[in-house]
Amino acid sequence: MMNINQAKRFTEEKFPAGPEELAAELGIEVREAPLTGCDGWVLSGPPGVIIRLNSTAFPTRRRFTLAHELGHLLLGIPSVVGESVYDSLKSNNTEERQVNDLAAELLLPESIVRLHLPSVPVVAKQLRKLAQKANVSELAAAIRVVNLAKEVGLVNAAVAFFKGDVFEWLWSRTLTMRPADATDLLVETKKTDPLPARIHKGKTNEVIVASIISNPTNQSSTLFVQLLPEEDGNRLSNAERRRPLEDFLFKDDNQFRMELQGVFGSFRPKCADWTLEVAFAEFYKQKGERWSGTRRTRLNSVKGREYVRLRLSEWCPAK
Ligand SMILES: [Zn+2]
Repeated sequence: MMNINQAKRFTEEKFPAGPEELAAELGIEVREAPLTGCDGWVLSGPPGVIIRLNSTAFPTRRRFTLAHELGHLLLGIPSVVGESVYDSLKSNNTEERQVNDLAAELLLPESIVRLHLPSVPVVAKQLRKLAQKANVSELAAAIRVVNLAKEVGLVNAAVAFFKGDVFEWLWSRTLTMRPADATDLLVETKKTDPLPARIHKGKTNEVIVASIISNPTNQSSTLFVQLLPEEDGNRLSNAERRRPLEDFLFKDDNQFRMELQGVFGSFRPKCADWTLEVAFAEFYKQKGERWSGTRRTRLNSVKGREYVRLRLSEWCPAK
C-alpha cells in the first residue's frame, strides 16, 4: 500500500483519471453492479481488495465513491458496508469527514484548483469548468474549494445543501451558519441566480458571496458560500459586468445580439496570436461600420466599447 502523500502525488500525475489509475496501480478490483440505497463499499480479504460501486449512480457520483473508498483504504479507516455519499457528507463523524477530504483531494489536486481559480470571488462558471475538467460533480468541486478556501484567497467558504428548500447540511472547515440563515441566503440567491447574491456584513467589513451550483437531480439545491474582504467581495465577475451592458446593447434587438455573438466567435481563435489591444483595434477596424443606425451607435458608444473589450478579454491576453 502507498502512503497518503505518495497516493496524492500519484493521482496528481494521473489527473483527471487519478482514482481509477490508483486503484489499478494498487491491484484493487473495482466491481460495478446495481446497488439499492447505497453508493458502494470496500472489502479487504484474503483474495485481495474489492471496491463495489453502484452502477446505477451518475458517473461523477461513482467516481466520488471510488475516491471515497480509496480514502478508507489509505487512511486505514474501515468502510461501512452500504454507505451513501450523501450520508457521509452529512455526517459529523470525524473519520468520514477525513475520508471525504482525502477523496476530494485525490479527484482534485490543489495545483489544478489553483490553476482554474486565479481570482476571487469564485464564480459558478469557474466551478463548473473545474468540475468538467476533473470529471467530478459541481458539488465535489465546491467541497474541494471549501477545503482550500485560504489557499485560493477566501476568508472562509462553505457548501450548504438543501433537500427541496429545506436545509440539510453544511460543509465547511470553520464557517458556521444557522439553518435559518442558510435558508434565507438560499432565498436571496434564487432571486439573483444565475448571478451571485452579495450580503454585506457591516461589523467586519466582509462580504458574503453566494451562488447556486447545479445538481444532477432537481430535488435538491446547493449553495456555494464564500466570505471575502469587502474589496474582493465587491469585485464584479465578468458575467455581472456583462449584464447591464447587454441590456443597453440588445434590450430590444435579439438579432443584433446573435450577429455580434457570431463575430466574437470568429475572433476567438485569433486570440492565440493577438493581445487584447490588437484584437480590440482589429474588431473596430473590421466590424465598427458593419451595422447601421442604432446598432452602429450603440456598438461605438462608451458602453459598447466596454462590452467589446470585456468579451475579447475572455480569450485575448492583456499583454
Ligand atoms: Zn465512508
